[in-house]
Amino acid sequence: MVSENERLSTQGEAFPSVDRILMSSTEKTSSPQSHQHLGVIEKLQVPLKPDTIEQTEVGNYFVANYPPFSFWKEEHVGAVFDRLASPPPPSTPLGVYFHIPFCRKRCHFCYFRVYTDKNAAQINAYLDEGIREYELYARSPYLAGRKPQFVYFGGGTPSYLSIEQLQSLTSRMKACFPWDEAEEVAFEAEPGTLTEKKLEALREVGVTRLSLGIESFDDHLLEVNGRAHRSKEAFRAISFAQTLGFDQLNIDLIAGMMDETPENWERTVHTAIEQNPDCVTIYQMEIPYNTTIYREMKDVGQVSAPVADWPTKRAWVSWAFSEFEKAGYTVNSAYTVVKNPEKTRFVYRDSLWAGADLLSAGVASFGHFGGIHYQNLADLGPYIMEMNRGAYPISRAYPTTEEERFVREFVLQIKLGYISRQYFINKYKLDPVERFPDHLNDLIHRGFFSIDGDLIRVSREGLLQIDWFLPGFFLPQHRNARYT
Ligand code: SF4
Repeated sequence: MVSENERLSTQGEAFPSVDRILMSSTEKTSSPQSHQHLGVIEKLQVPLKPDTIEQTEVGNYFVANYPPFSFWKEEHVGAVFDRLASPPPPSTPLGVYFHIPFCRKRCHFCYFRVYTDKNAAQINAYLDEGIREYELYARSPYLAGRKPQFVYFGGGTPSYLSIEQLQSLTSRMKACFPWDEAEEVAFEAEPGTLTEKKLEALREVGVTRLSLGIESFDDHLLEVNGRAHRSKEAFRAISFAQTLGFDQLNIDLIAGMMDETPENWERTVHTAIEQNPDCVTIYQMEIPYNTTIYREMKDVGQVSAPVADWPTKRAWVSWAFSEFEKAGYTVNSAYTVVKNPEKTRFVYRDSLWAGADLLSAGVASFGHFGGIHYQNLADLGPYIMEMNRGAYPISRAYPTTEEERFVREFVLQIKLGYISRQYFINKYKLDPVERFPDHLNDLIHRGFFSIDGDLIRVSREGLLQIDWFLPGFFLPQHRNARYT
């Protein structure tokens, strides 16, 4: 489920060169192998020793935004207010995001700021503040009167809300920013929180894309990794959702959770295929700081996490992609397979990656207005206090330059497996081939990228480890950033 980022300092530690990572990956992945959460996670530059470079060590590798969060500062928050006071842009699409930071139980691999102890009254109070935040934005010249192209509910667990809470929240959101022109309303759900009635309510309020955090169909894995639901609840949720006919049903899987084996993974992938979802998103397990798993590693002085190493996880995802392809699915990003690529779009992802505005409300959420990134206060108490004062609860921001926006779009869109050079020439007057000659040549030489006329393409092997290459496209001052 998409959201906030807990980042610990790695100041003063060396970052492994992309070359070293590539060399190591190429060597090790040549042997045969077995097997967001949207989240908002990013590359954390973890110092890797040569003998452990392919072990799963603590830290994030996933690049979800650019520039890195450590460059977002409180002193830039005024730039957001200036933007909000300016006229609306003529053609930039707008998305709205609402963050629900509540869960039934904390998963052992979770690094989000989630609350598992709030009662209905506390949750209602939070939703009231979130709506107050929307109302503030709806009065700003930059956003007033704009209608969202897409809506996204992330967390945490949005489906933790009761039917009444969902109905009230969505009707108040629509009063601020009407959804009648929205191409997609996406909603993240934990299977154990869903009943048929709640799913009916979600259909009625306008949800079009339901995303189920299944992660695995193996009950032992779900238990060992601290998930709140079991496979029985997953099957029931899928079946209800399919009966109700959401436009799109996505299920999330994680390759390489604790205790994962090739046999488990095989069963999970084949079960997922049998369930016939429209879209499947597969993440490779990482162990960020602030997870229960990391704390246990730290207590015993362990460097490598008790999960599969990176070559194994890549091989598992590679195998899964092949099985889905045999079943008629198409790989359409580094993490997703879809049954019908013509029909199954993911507007939230594609618009954000192309520079859409995103009004993000709720504790710790991230947004973006006309080239300015911002993040809200990360704790519930300060967030509510700030809203009570009638102020925007923004804690830090970053006004991007045109060059940074070019890099951002490039590193995000290339995760689709290809980009159009002409798109960048039209928008930024710059051909990525000319902008990144050395890094691209290196990746081409290694067989991960190729140039095919207008397209820069990523090979399957490249796609499976794309997040490791992306910092090589960053501006020099961001490559050795400290991530917080
Ligand atoms: S606790 Fe689990 S369900 Fe809740 S946000 Fe974290 S990973 Fe997702």
